[in-house]
Amino acid sequence: MFPEQIVHNSALALIETLAGRFPDVPVEAIFKEDLLRRGMAWSREALGIAEGFKRKAYFIFSFDMIPIEQMAQNENTKAPEEIRLVGGPFRFKPVIVSVRLNPFSPYRVVAEDGKLILKLEGHPVAGVELQHSPSYYQRSLANGKPITDIAPTIEWGYLLYLTVFRLCQYFGAGEECQFCDINENYRQQRKSGRPYTSVKTVEEILEALEIIASTDSASKAYTVTGGSITSRLEGKTEVEFYARYPEAIELKFPGRWISKVVVQALTRDEVQRFRDAGVKIYHPNYEVWDERLFETFCPGKARYIGREQWIRRILDAAEIFGANNVIPNFVAGIEMSRPDGFDSVDDAIASTAEGLDYFMSHGVSPRFTTWCPEPLSVLGRNQEGAPLEYHVRLLRVYLDTRSKYRLPPPPGYGEPGLGRAVFSVSAFMDVLPTAPES
Ligand code: SF4
Repeated sequence: MFPEQIVHNSALALIETLAGRFPDVPVEAIFKEDLLRRGMAWSREALGIAEGFKRKAYFIFSFDMIPIEQMAQNENTKAPEEIRLVGGPFRFKPVIVSVRLNPFSPYRVVAEDGKLILKLEGHPVAGVELQHSPSYYQRSLANGKPITDIAPTIEWGYLLYLTVFRLCQYFGAGEECQFCDINENYRQQRKSGRPYTSVKTVEEILEALEIIASTDSASKAYTVTGGSITSRLEGKTEVEFYARYPEAIELKFPGRWISKVVVQALTRDEVQRFRDAGVKIYHPNYEVWDERLFETFCPGKARYIGREQWIRRILDAAEIFGANNVIPNFVAGIEMSRPDGFDSVDDAIASTAEGLDYFMSHGVSPRFTTWCPEPLSVLGRNQEGAPLEYHVRLLRVYLDTRSKYRLPPPPGYGEPGLGRAVFSVSAFMDVLPTAPES
C-alpha cells in the first residue's frame, strides 16, 4: 500500500503509522482528515483548470487557513468547493473533500498533462476530480443576485446550503464561539467584492429554489441556518426568524427536499414549530463535550443558554423529532487547541468519547466537522489543527459507540460508506458501513 520510495516522507510516514495502528479505518479517511486539518495548496495551472468547474461559494464560514487578502493567486475566486480523490498509488475509492485553502500546506494540487493530481510533499497521493457547475449556478434572481450567493450547494450537489443570516449576534471575544469566523468572514467577503447577502429574504430563497427545482435532480436536502439571534432580528426572535423559511419552502415544495435546520438548542415549543413546518432534521450544535471547554470556547452559548440546558433541550428535541433526527455537531479537534485544550490525545478522546456515549445512549448521534483553524477566529490565529492521531481515533470511537448502541446511519447525509459518502468536512460518513443494495 505504501510504495517504498515514499515512506520516508514525514507526513506520509505519519499516515503509514496510523494506517498500521488502525487497519479498519480506510486510508482514504485518514488522508481526508489530514487534508481537512492541514488544508491544501493549488498550483497556478491547477487553479486555471479548477476555475472552469464548480467554485467555492463560501457558504457560511471561510473554511480557509489564510485570509483572502493574503491569497496571492486569488484562490478564493478560483478554487473548487470540493474535490473528489480517486485512484493513484493508494488505489483510492472515491472520497469527497472540502477545499480548505492553505498555500503552506504540504498537500498540493497540481496539473500534469492536463490532469489534476494531489501530491503530499511532492509525492502523488490520488487523482483529483472536480464537479461541473450545475446549470443553475449561472443563473441570477430577478433582483440580480447570483444564485451562488442565495442557494449554493455542497456535498457534491446533495445539500442546498441556505445561510439566511450571514452574521451572528454573539459578537466579540466575550460571546463569539472561539473557533468560528462567521462575522469576520462576512466582512472579508464583502471587502473582496463577492456578492454576499447578509439577510436573505424568504422571497429570495423561494425564487432560487424555484430555479433549482426546475433544473436539478441532484440536490436531496436543504439546510436553513445562520448566526444565532440573541435579541431580535427584523423584530423577530430566533425561532420566529428562522422558522419562516422552512414553513414557506415546505408550503411551496412539500417534501421536495429533506428539510434540516441548524439553530441553537431551543425550547420544546420553539422546536415543535420547526417540526410543524415540516423540518425533518434538527442540528442544535453542541461543539465540544467537556464542561470547562464548552464554557471557554462557546462563551455566548454558555451565558445565554448554558451547558446543562443545552443538553436537556437536545434530549427534549429527540422526543419531538425522533432521536435519530437530532444531530448535534461537534467541532472535532478544538479539544486539543492551545492554550485551554487537552494536552494529550488520550484525554481529548476520553472526553469526547464520554459525550458520544452520553448522547448515543439516548439514540442521538452527533456528527463532526473537522476543525479548520481559521485565522480570523480566536483559536485559529496562531496554531495548527489537532494531531492526526486524534482525528483517526475519533473515527474509531465514533464507530465503536454507534455499534454499541446499534444506531442506524444518520438521515439527511446521503449514502454512507467508502466510495459513496458525499459529506465533505469530516470522514465520519466515509467510515460507516455501506448500506446493503435494496
Ligand atoms: S453561535 Fe457560535 S458557531 Fe454559531 S455562528 Fe455564532 S459564533 Fe459561530
